[in-house]
Amino acid sequence: MNISQIIRAAKKYMPDLNEQKILDAYSFAEEAHKNQKRDDGSPYITHPLETCMILTNLQADEDMLITALLHDVPEDTGYSLKDVGGKFGKKVAFLVEGVTKLSRVYYKHNMADRQIESLKRLFLHSAKDLRIILVKLADRLHNMRTLGNIKNESKKLLIANETLEIYVPVANLLGIWEIKFEMEDLCFEHIYPTDYSRMNSLVEQSAIRNDHILKETLKIAKSAVKSRGINAEIYARKKNLYSIYKKMVRTGRQFKDIYDLIALRVIVNNVDECYLALGAIHQTFKPKPKRIKDYIAVPKVNGYRSIHTTVFGIDGVITEFQIRTKQMHLDDEYGIAAHYFYDYSKAKKQKIGEVFRKHADWAKKILDIQKEARTSNDFVDGMKFDIFQDRIFVFTPRGDVIDLPYGSNVVDFAYHIHSDIGDHLLSAEINGEPVTPTAQLKTGDTVKIEISDKVLGPKREWLQFAKTGLAKTRIKEFFKKQSTQKNYNAGLQLLGQELKLLGISELKKMSSKAENEFLKNFSVKSKRELVILIGNGDINVKNVIHTLYSHEELLGTPPAKGTQSSYQVEINIIFKDRVGFLRDIAMLFSNLGVNISQIKDLNADSNMQKRLSMTIEVNNLRHLDEALMAVSSVKDIVKVWKR
Ligand code: MN
Repeated sequence: MNISQIIRAAKKYMPDLNEQKILDAYSFAEEAHKNQKRDDGSPYITHPLETCMILTNLQADEDMLITALLHDVPEDTGYSLKDVGGKFGKKVAFLVEGVTKLSRVYYKHNMADRQIESLKRLFLHSAKDLRIILVKLADRLHNMRTLGNIKNESKKLLIANETLEIYVPVANLLGIWEIKFEMEDLCFEHIYPTDYSRMNSLVEQSAIRNDHILKETLKIAKSAVKSRGINAEIYARKKNLYSIYKKMVRTGRQFKDIYDLIALRVIVNNVDECYLALGAIHQTFKPKPKRIKDYIAVPKVNGYRSIHTTVFGIDGVITEFQIRTKQMHLDDEYGIAAHYFYDYSKAKKQKIGEVFRKHADWAKKILDIQKEARTSNDFVDGMKFDIFQDRIFVFTPRGDVIDLPYGSNVVDFAYHIHSDIGDHLLSAEINGEPVTPTAQLKTGDTVKIEISDKVLGPKREWLQFAKTGLAKTRIKEFFKKQSTQKNYNAGLQLLGQELKLLGISELKKMSSKAENEFLKNFSVKSKRELVILIGNGDINVKNVIHTLYSHEELLGTPPAKGTQSSYQVEINIIFKDRVGFLRDIAMLFSNLGVNISQIKDLNADSNMQKRLSMTIEVNNLRHLDEALMAVSSVKDIVKVWKR
């Protein structure tokens, strides 16, 4: 890879590119990195060059290409951000600052903090200029492509896991499938090497088996479309190994049942040609009934457009076609980036408007999460949930679609509709069945909410269950309006409940010095203030307990290294007896990956209540929290606590 290849690629879509500026940035970066080598021993400059080349595929603009060339200069060389700004201007310096990691020296004692703070800055800068995250994605993609060169196994895993947790969802959110799928498969390869190679060989074998059918199908489809006077590009679609794997794990089905045997893409010039091509294919191959989807006439919620059809192909092999125009294809492969840059010389007004609206939503969410977060850890967790999480689509009784993060519950839904609905929520139904307000939703659910003026506000416990930033903010707003005394009393009560839940009879005593240190963690001056902030929802009671008690105090002795790596915890459950209660609990635990190792006794007490005591296996405190909270939102539960 060299700089003239990049300039050539960029000029194809950007004829007015300022070549000299690109060359200047390149010489500057080359000089700055001249004494550095990559893990495989090649000159460091190969990395910024490759990053830059990836961006030309996204049809990135000049500033981004320059940023890509310079992105590691302030982090790793003798030149500072100021030097970059002096030479290439404030705008480029701002972009570079967003991409680069924070000083290695300053954070040398806490690299985990450095990572978290760097991520935070990346997102906050990206909220101001989305181009930063695109450069970062390209940077990360190249690092993933060369991950195999890193010798240190745990470092390798750390990078792969971070990519899967953070950058893959970002690419997904922005709809940049091209990058998402490649990154995802690279993560898959490094995190689950055995499964990866198994999937890889399954796909390869099936490709070899179907090779002649594929060739024949391509030939016939091409000539059928061409005979209608359409100049189309037709090719076999690449499959994303990780998504096939996930589907197999999720559904428990076999490879051959999941993997569509032949999948082709047909790219044409305009919408009319899409329908002509569809006609040509249907006259050549018999379509499978009910498998024609016209996402051009009715685009998907996320704006996706294409026509899909499944036909009985050669030798009856099930064959899937996706038909779309070039513009639809670019929109699909490169998502928000396509809207940003493609065709920018004759940008359509409406399109630009749509991009800005989407971006504004995104930026607003990031800033909301920042307002909400008390620590950088909270911030990154919030990002993971509100921004990166997979989405679910649920319905109101009138059939309106509501888009929420995966894991959302009735409370999130209610506040999403309107804060009054949340504040006055009396009861709820999912698909006609009565449920608790903390019941989790899944795609396709219809949610009905009953409200009443007699309900005077949300429940404080909901704060523990609410998943979206919006619901949390609204609930807190409600409690902040209440009197300090009320919040103090509520705080005490929440603290008491949490202690009971974890089976602690009395709050730990502390020396006044230890107490001051402890209070500092929450930026409060007194215990009273802490309790008030627990009451109004500003401070999470779980965080307080987790800070106060050590892991061992709450979970018991850690499992021995090298054996099974889980803690044995005994919990008690009291519930109103009904058919299927135990099944609900077992299902719930299995979804959370919690193993039930023993059920001790099961006896009825008065009031038709039963008491159940069981030993469960959890990985850590967070896992235990999840388990306890999940149990406490099951229908007919009276009480749950750790022994
Ligand atoms: Mn880099």
